[in-house]
Amino acid sequence: MDCNEVAANLQLLVDDELPEETIQEIRVHLENCGGCIEKFEAEKAFKEVLREKICKKCAPGAWLEDVRSSVLLKAY
Ligand SMILES: [Zn+2]
Repeated sequence: MDCNEVAANLQLLVDDELPEETIQEIRVHLENCGGCIEKFEAEKAFKEVLREKICKKCAPGAWLEDVRSSVLLKAY
C-alpha cells in the first residue's frame, strides 16, 4: 500500500466501506506516513461538516464539491 493507494481509499475508509484487511493495511501505512494522516483527518473533518450541513438542508452537488475542496485544500 503506497500513498496513492491510501489516498484512493480514504473516502471509503471514513465511510467504513472497506474490508477489514484493507483497513489494516491503511492503518499500518498511516502509522508511518504523516502526509496521509493529514489527508485522513481532512476526510474525516469533511464528513463531519457534511453530516452537520446535510441535516440542516438538502445540499446540491456543486456545493458539496466546494466544501470538499475547501476542507481538503489544507491537507493536499
Ligand atoms: Zn502515505
